[in-house]
Amino acid sequence: MTPSRIRARLGMWNLAVFGLVLLVTITAAALSIARVSDLAIDRELQLGAARAATRMAHAWAGSDRHERDDERRDDERHGRASEEDDHDRLVHFAEASPDQFVIAARGAAPAVRVDGRAMPPGLPDARALASAQADGAAVRSSGTVAGARVRMLTVPVRIGGRVAGAVQIVRSLTAPERAVWRSVLVLVVTGVAGLVLAAAASAFLAGRAVRPIAAALARQQRFLADASHELRTPVTVLRARADAMLREGEGLQASVKDELRRLSADADELSLLLGDLLDLARLEAGVESLSIEPVAVGDAAEEMVADLGPMALERGVTLVAKAEPAFARAHLGRVRQVLRALIDNALKHTPRGGHVTVSVALEGQHAVLRVADDGVGIAPEHLPQVFERFFRADEARTRGAGGGGAGLGLAIAAELVHQMRGTIQVESEPGRGATFTVRLPR
Ligand code: ADP
Repeated sequence: MTPSRIRARLGMWNLAVFGLVLLVTITAAALSIARVSDLAIDRELQLGAARAATRMAHAWAGSDRHERDDERRDDERHGRASEEDDHDRLVHFAEASPDQFVIAARGAAPAVRVDGRAMPPGLPDARALASAQADGAAVRSSGTVAGARVRMLTVPVRIGGRVAGAVQIVRSLTAPERAVWRSVLVLVVTGVAGLVLAAAASAFLAGRAVRPIAAALARQQRFLADASHELRTPVTVLRARADAMLREGEGLQASVKDELRRLSADADELSLLLGDLLDLARLEAGVESLSIEPVAVGDAAEEMVADLGPMALERGVTLVAKAEPAFARAHLGRVRQVLRALIDNALKHTPRGGHVTVSVALEGQHAVLRVADDGVGIAPEHLPQVFERFFRADEARTRGAGGGGAGLGLAIAAELVHQMRGTIQVESEPGRGATFTVRLPR
């Protein structure tokens, strides 16, 4: 993993943790604000109901006396009825605000708004009024008045210990709900602002945290690049000398010639390995950034199959291309290098009579390159490691098969694919072959 990727991941984790904490905090705060508001409404309803019940009790007790006097007088005046009726007398004394109604009811008589105004549709809650009078207990209920949600509390009114009627306090929930939403909105806005700040801070901190790692890594990569570069020359010289001795040393003993041949082959292998190492070190150090352009990957696959045809023939393996015309945003030279590594591996690990198929197709937003063989395959426990540097599933066999690499081929291929913003995957069933899939952006 490169320092910039470590940095990105570190920053992302920081941010994710902060975001999660923020989310939990905001949710908890929002819930408790809603709960506090709820309790406040309930308390207001209780106070309002108690006050209204007391006043109604006074009013009704007064009007009852009045009525009895009236009745006496009516008896005297032979049945002239009072002009004021019970309900008119309760009107105009109890407090009411635009978002609160107070309603009174006595027995089966129709309920009235105590401020004397028209009863809005949806009110009163007749069932609550009846039930409060019947049971002598408070009733909480809710409903909708003119499209607004309301909460109601209905309490019995007692005169001298007897239930004489009931009052119903109705409060609109619009204002308190709006207040709650406003508080939540403030929380969310503050939270988002905090998150933006945290993102900046975590990017900065992650950058600082990985700086020493990046420096150490760069030193190591520079050393690796320098070392492999410096070593290549003497190795080339070594090989040239061995070859020259073989050419010129006519009279040499057969065993010495064999040694020289082996020396030349070893030097050759060493040179390839140094080349791979240099390649990997440069890639990881980001020395050369790839110029990305549209690449006809279908054509590239067909050409590579044609190039490696002779090698397949020599190994007795059938190598075919099944490519549809496809373009990817990539680097032609690097795509060829990846294909060569994958096909080379497939040929190496497929016995005589086997098949290697290279296919190219468009799938969604990707051009997909597949190299599939029906060779020895890769054991499940080795699958996660094949893209690691210096990994070889079976060292002895790979080496013995000739031209064996040092286990860097797939590491380089993976790095290249990654630099082209693609992905590489492997699937395999031991004994039935392996399939490498490379996805490149279209
Ligand atoms: P090498 O240079 O040894 O081929 P690679 O990185 O290319 O190194 O491959 C790593 C290992 O993955 C190989 O040694 C081999 O064990 C395994 N491998 C790669 N491709 C195949 C394949 N097509 N079939 C079976 N094994 C494979």
